[in-house]
Amino acid sequence: MTAPADRQDNFRAPFDPYGAMTHEVFNQPVELVDYNLFESDEALKDAVRREGAAWAKDGLQAFGARAGSAEYLESGALANKNPPELDSHDRYGRRVDLVRYHPAYHALMKVSIEEGIHSSPWTDPREGAHVARAARSYMQTEVEAGHGCPITMTFASTPCLKLQPDLAERWLPKIHARVYDPRNVPAEQKQGLTIGMAMTEKQGGSDVRANTTRAIPLAAEGPGKAYEIVGHKFFVSAPMCDAFLVLAQAPGGLSCFLVPRWRPDGTKNPLQIVRLKRKMGNVSNASSETELRGAFGWMVGPEGRGVATIIEMVAMTRFDCMIGSSACMRMAAAQAIDHCRQRKAFGAYLIDQPIMTAVLADLAIEAEAALALTMRIARALDHRDDPHEDALVRLGAAIGKYWICKRAPGHAYEALECTGGSGVMEDSPMPRLYREAPINAIWEGSGNVQCLDIARAIARSPRALDAYFDELASVKDESAVLDHHAAALKDDVRDLSDFESRARDLCDRLALGLEAAALARAGSPVTEAFCRSRLEAPGAHNYGALSGADLKAIVKRAAPR
Ligand SMILES: Cc1cc2nc3c(=O)[nH]c(=O)nc-3n(C[C@H](O)[C@H](O)[C@H](O)COP(=O)(O)OP(=O)(O)OC[C@H]3O[C@@H](n4cnc5c(N)ncnc54)[C@H](O)[C@@H]3O)c2cc1C
Repeated sequence: MTAPADRQDNFRAPFDPYGAMTHEVFNQPVELVDYNLFESDEALKDAVRREGAAWAKDGLQAFGARAGSAEYLESGALANKNPPELDSHDRYGRRVDLVRYHPAYHALMKVSIEEGIHSSPWTDPREGAHVARAARSYMQTEVEAGHGCPITMTFASTPCLKLQPDLAERWLPKIHARVYDPRNVPAEQKQGLTIGMAMTEKQGGSDVRANTTRAIPLAAEGPGKAYEIVGHKFFVSAPMCDAFLVLAQAPGGLSCFLVPRWRPDGTKNPLQIVRLKRKMGNVSNASSETELRGAFGWMVGPEGRGVATIIEMVAMTRFDCMIGSSACMRMAAAQAIDHCRQRKAFGAYLIDQPIMTAVLADLAIEAEAALALTMRIARALDHRDDPHEDALVRLGAAIGKYWICKRAPGHAYEALECTGGSGVMEDSPMPRLYREAPINAIWEGSGNVQCLDIARAIARSPRALDAYFDELASVKDESAVLDHHAAALKDDVRDLSDFESRARDLCDRLALGLEAAALARAGSPVTEAFCRSRLEAPGAHNYGALSGADLKAIVKRAAPR
């Protein structure tokens, strides 16, 4: 690979005639800023075109330029260097439950909402709507992941709220509006609203049936009616949201409620923040422990069907975890490649040294596979009226959430190592990516829980597995390795009575097969290298254990500049 003009000796310090310089300085990479996150991402551009959102190209290109600017990238860092702070009371002792954020966080929220990342497929449902939105969300998450939590929850609340038409009619117009209003005032006084969710309690996050929070009807019982809610939630992220979808035990069983920050009479709803959590990553996003001390809420969906109701929201947040972890991998690979194209060791650029080329190529392959599967599911979301696509959403999103989120931490670590000691420094983006990487895997269904969800999807709908294997069959003959993988997998899923004892192995292989099919379907040049490195030798894959492919071409394809 030849050295581009911008890295020719631009690291050499000028001659210092006064002798203040202690040593000659060279071999210092410049930061990866002021580049277009869309234009520089071949895999993303291909995916947008392929999956039905070619019409969105100009807007995505403009957004990519904005998102990749030095100033905007810096806002992502600032929002995390300055964590949110809680004021439980004002100085006179009044309870306020007010979380204060750095202006950079508000700036990111404003952009996400103005770009419609919280609502565009619902307000403008057209061919490629989910694909275009996923592309925007992906680029925005490359800049900053934490603020994406309330954006995702607001986006995902729509299918859930639609189950309660009276509430939907009142709330959705302002939830969908492209207006960010962070003021702590009742929803009635705002033009734009954000929505959070509160399921997890101290005694259980995966098993929300263990919830003990109680909901007592204020008068009449049932969907849309008013309840008083008493209990606690151990995780309530983005507690400044205007309302929360909350699970609580009603007389007829676990049910879903919409709990606003302010009561309809304009008084403060007693959602009391006990403290903000001190998280290893996702720092810009406040996550709280909250007590509900007689909080007002409306029942959403049928009584006793809380999980079935809120799962409409969870399904979309899980999809967004796929976007988020794919974006984390893209940024990590871009940082690693860009560093290595500028940094020399032993007389040659790192990018050109065979072991490093193999590692970088592998990081690029992993990131591209994650994106290809995410965008394939985005396309399926745009075509849910087609039974194949609908079945693919159900099973493919469960598989993708499980796998892509699980691959992100190891990927972030390997990419960080490529950037050497500078990558460990807090003013590098790498520590943030590294600490962010494990979170999506835990949030909204941790690994094993996702495996159980995959089993549930298969058990409840025989169409799900058919759709899976149809998807693999649609690229038959593209890769002999993939065809062999598909045949072996088909045999292994014939009898799933012992699923739990084989779950990780099966889910890993289901995921790898689906990623390979997504790459093959895309005609991606990394398909064969992916199949050979991941499908022929599953289980013990280590980054850089690649050979036989055009590794330099793979790295070049993934290079951000
Ligand atoms: C940054 C962050 C933000 C969050 N924000 C929110 C929020 O806004 N609202 C909200 O409601 N929750 C939120 N959560 C909580 C999150 O959804 C839960 O942490 C998650 O669902 C796991 O629940 P848990 O922590 O109780 O772990 P547990 O349920 O105790 O699970 C521990 C481990 O056991 C595994 N496990 C569970 N069941 C089984 C089984 N049957 N077989 C095998 N293994 C199993 C799980 O996969 C997991 O690895 C947030 C979490 C994080 C980290």
